[in-house]
Amino acid sequence: MQRLGFDASDIKYVLISHAHGDHIGGAEMLQNRGQRILVDPRDWDLVEQFPNRYLTMAPKRDLEAEDGKQLTLGDTTITIWRTPGHTAGTLSYTFTVFDNGRPVNVAYSGGTGFLFPSTTPDLGIKDFQTYIDSQKHIAAKAAETNATVILSNHSVHDNAVNKIRMIPGRANGPHPFEVGADMVQRYFQVMQHCARAAQIKLERIA
Ligand SMILES: [Zn+2]
Repeated sequence: MQRLGFDASDIKYVLISHAHGDHIGGAEMLQNRGQRILVDPRDWDLVEQFPNRYLTMAPKRDLEAEDGKQLTLGDTTITIWRTPGHTAGTLSYTFTVFDNGRPVNVAYSGGTGFLFPSTTPDLGIKDFQTYIDSQKHIAAKAAETNATVILSNHSVHDNAVNKIRMIPGRANGPHPFEVGADMVQRYFQVMQHCARAAQIKLERIA
């Protein structure tokens, strides 16, 4: 952050997409520095259930997410959307960033990947339905806000590493992260179709 000219003490809120170790690491340290941590209530339960799962990953219960809750920071507002599935309290966001002053709308998907008890029909069929419904929810919000950028909680899923490599060569061309509203919608369609395919498998077993 220092190298990019930011001051870590300017952080006001830390929004946790979900309480898995690779996403909540460091939150306890930031909380101890006085920064506010926002987690969905159901993932706060997860944190409290497994406080010693990983070192430094158990912040104390602080801000709780609600569907449609907004945080305004400077010239932008972030809207929080509940998208349960990957965990019971997975969060996604829509917000506006500025590309050389031009507003660009972003959809951030907080739970790319199936990581719930999905191997048996009794649990899995319902879990995949929750996942599908959440993808529809964030896809609708992405459409409403005209999101032309998709960010995933894992950079392998949104090709972020390659997009970052393309930035120095963009000249006056489009920003590599700006893939267009149609492509953003296709991302969420692929998520729904993959979940539906896994769900059909379980329906056949049942
Ligand atoms: Zn996860």
